[in-house]
Amino acid sequence: MTSDATARRGFLQLSLAATALAAQVGQAVAEVQPKLGASPLTQPPLPFDPKALEPVISAETLSFHYGKHHKGYFDAVNKAVAGTPLATATLEQIIVQTAGLAERAPLFNAAAQAWNHNFYWQSLSPTATSPSGALAAAITRDFGSLDALKKQLASAAISRFGSGWGWLVVEAGKLKVVSTSNADIPFLHGQTPLLTVDVWEHAYYLDYQNRRADYVTALLDKIVNWEFAGRNFDAA
Ligand code: MN
Repeated sequence: MTSDATARRGFLQLSLAATALAAQVGQAVAEVQPKLGASPLTQPPLPFDPKALEPVISAETLSFHYGKHHKGYFDAVNKAVAGTPLATATLEQIIVQTAGLAERAPLFNAAAQAWNHNFYWQSLSPTATSPSGALAAAITRDFGSLDALKKQLASAAISRFGSGWGWLVVEAGKLKVVSTSNADIPFLHGQTPLLTVDVWEHAYYLDYQNRRADYVTALLDKIVNWEFAGRNFDAA
């Protein structure tokens, strides 16, 4: 499928979702898609030491990325929901309830970026891992090889215009590589994310300046947490 076709379909799904969500206003927060997960509105600790991903990602980059950018999204979410019914919602519920609603875009962006970074940290590993079990079999089935998958994912992440994310997802039982723009998340488009690569400039600029391809390639070759992706695949 071309990226244009994907974009059109994504837009259509987003429009339908927005219509459905508008109709849900007033519905109890707890009824909204709890199967997506239940992340609290507090920033989880980094799952590794800030130096642990060097030399692929420096401690300086990780410290700014986690301590300033990611924390800033959580701060914005908490400020926006304070004293409202969403104060007791999960991150996932806020994302689903605000997606596609123009007047809720600032809250959606902050909540989705908080979620995306939670997922990104878990997609990375200081120690080498490789796909195993059902995920390894599905990679061979759907891409031919791990190298072919990495090539497709690198291409999608590197060619994403502007800010966004590269993803390995499952859709209708099949593995797929996609990219999203800004804060957008595959689970809003019927896709279950398995792992993600942040390609906002703040993710790599201190270490790689404009060389996004070098950052993406090094990340995919050396620090992907395939065990995390495998657990997500088993649960999908
Ligand atoms: Mn980021």
